[in-house]
Amino acid sequence: MIETWPSNLKWEKLDSLVKGYKELLVPDVKTWVTIKEKPITAERIKELRKSGLDFFLRERVFEEGYFIPASRNCHKPMMIIKRSLTGYDRDVTLMHELIHALYEDGSNILYDASIKLPREVRLVNNAIVDWLARKARANPEILHAAIKIFEFAALELMPQVYDRASFEAFGMEANGQRVFTFMYGLNEPLIYQMESSKNL
Ligand SMILES: [Zn+2]
Repeated sequence: MIETWPSNLKWEKLDSLVKGYKELLVPDVKTWVTIKEKPITAERIKELRKSGLDFFLRERVFEEGYFIPASRNCHKPMMIIKRSLTGYDRDVTLMHELIHALYEDGSNILYDASIKLPREVRLVNNAIVDWLARKARANPEILHAAIKIFEFAALELMPQVYDRASFEAFGMEANGQRVFTFMYGLNEPLIYQMESSKNL
C-alpha cells in the first residue's frame, strides 16, 4: 500500500501501485467502471466548461489545487490553482482538478481531500487521481484543450513548453518568443526529458 502523498512518486512506481489497485479493484468496482466509461477527452473538458465549471488562480492557498463542487444555491463548481505553479507542476495540478470535476457525480470515492475519509483511503484516491492526471497531461490534445479552454477564465494561464508533450501541444502555434525561450537553455537533462516519453 501507499504511505506518502503520490505527487512526488516516480511514474514507474505510481503506475505499478495503481495497476495493483486496479487488479484488486481498490477502491471499488464502480470507480473503475466509471473511469473506463468516461475517459477524459478534449470534448469532455469543453463540456465541463460549458456546464459552468469555473477556474481561478490564487496566491494564498495551502494546497497546490482544489476542486470545489457546486453548492446548492451559492456557486458553480470551481477549480483553484496556486498561481506560483509553473510548467509541469501547474499542468498536472490543472489535470488533477479536472479529473475530480469529471468524476464528481459518478464516483465520489475519487475525492481525496475529504477529512471524513481515513488517511489511507485518501492516499489511494489521490494516487488514482494523480495517475489519471499525469496520463492526461502527457496527451498533447488533452493538454491543449485544457489550457485553451480555461485560458479565457484566467488570462494568466498561458501555454508553457517544458517537455515533448507540451511542445507538441503548443510549440507550433504559440508566440515564438515566449514558447521557445526554454530552448536557449537546452541542456542534457532537458533533452533527455524531451526524448524520453516517460515524463509522466
Ligand atoms: Zn485531489
